[in-house]
Amino acid sequence: MIIHMRVGLEKNSPEVEAVINKASAWQVNPEIELIEGTKYSTVSIRLYDGKNRSNIIPEHVFNVLDGVEDVMRVTPPEISLAYNGQDDAKTIVLGPDISVGNYLPCRIIFGPCTVDRHVDEIVESIASHGIKMIRGGCWKPRSSPYSFPGHGEKAVRWLLSAAAKHGIESVFLEVMESDHIRIVEKIQNEVGFNGSIVLWVGARTKNSILLRELGKQKKYPVMLKHALSDETPERFTGVSEWIVNGPVLFDDDGNLLEKESSESGNHDLMLCLRGSDGGVKPWRFRPNWEWTEYIRKNWWTPVIIDPSHAAGTMQEDLVFTAINSALIHKPAALLVEGGYPEDGFPDKKGYRGLCDMDQSIPIERLPELIEIVRKHNKKHYGIDTF
Ligand code: PEP
Ligand code: MN
Repeated sequence: MIIHMRVGLEKNSPEVEAVINKASAWQVNPEIELIEGTKYSTVSIRLYDGKNRSNIIPEHVFNVLDGVEDVMRVTPPEISLAYNGQDDAKTIVLGPDISVGNYLPCRIIFGPCTVDRHVDEIVESIASHGIKMIRGGCWKPRSSPYSFPGHGEKAVRWLLSAAAKHGIESVFLEVMESDHIRIVEKIQNEVGFNGSIVLWVGARTKNSILLRELGKQKKYPVMLKHALSDETPERFTGVSEWIVNGPVLFDDDGNLLEKESSESGNHDLMLCLRGSDGGVKPWRFRPNWEWTEYIRKNWWTPVIIDPSHAAGTMQEDLVFTAINSALIHKPAALLVEGGYPEDGFPDKKGYRGLCDMDQSIPIERLPELIEIVRKHNKKHYGIDTF
């Protein structure tokens, strides 16, 4: 890895020193080089393997430092998710006023489990409460072949059109296969949605080609949910590496193509906890919110909590119980299902969606959720936001 510093800095500038300190924290060996041109001189810092290999360091660790112009890889990455102190945490910018990161105020992502033709009305009412980030499934991986699989491409159009119309800044949208990335991009251009789109991979999707493609493209940040059967947070790292490393290429004789493989993958990655197998009634899944601290302490990726699927029901206000217990762990965001009127749409026999209706927070109760998160942010970050 080579780090190019801003023109005009000297070998002993404090900016260069900060890079050297960071390299030491990651236990790799820096070597400072002064490149003297006829007009200008520049400093570049080469990182050599020390206790760690230099190709495991994600670019953002250096990119955020003052005076760093560019970070270049010379060997294929094997990106580590390891975290070496608070300033290594990754912040993902999803809108003019929306940054998602560990140690930042908690943000609400709210919307229906699955997108249907009522989505315009739903997004309008969600937006009227000041929510800027929405969720919606267009392709739904289901456990049963007889369940509703989502309206697909049509739903992407409905969702992004509604988002554009109602001033939504960020849309979280589930993808199941590589083709879906291209479909989302095509429809985004057609409907002219200028906000950010986060592509998410659900707990039931096992598709390493999709993960590799998500790592190759850098236009869309990615949210990864852990598998239902994951019993420890470490299981997560293995899967995340498909995304953060990007594709590794080999020639026809099976030799690693070093140069072609040296670009690293997509580091705009968020991890989402949604509860594991082994839920005890009334819980649908076992809340694993305590993984948040572990991940925050050991990895640089933001942690999001989905309280809806673990609860599985609004009876006894269980989703709110899950939200309150999630906030104790200070997630970077909450991904919450809801948005239909409490008694459903009157002109459609009280219809409230085709998927995960039991756990859906009615639109009338969205202000309660906002108030809870607002209070949490005020108390812990001194900011009145959600
Ligand atoms: C969802 O978010 O609607 C969903 C199906 O989640 P999961 O993949 O966690 O089951
Ligand atoms: Mn759902």
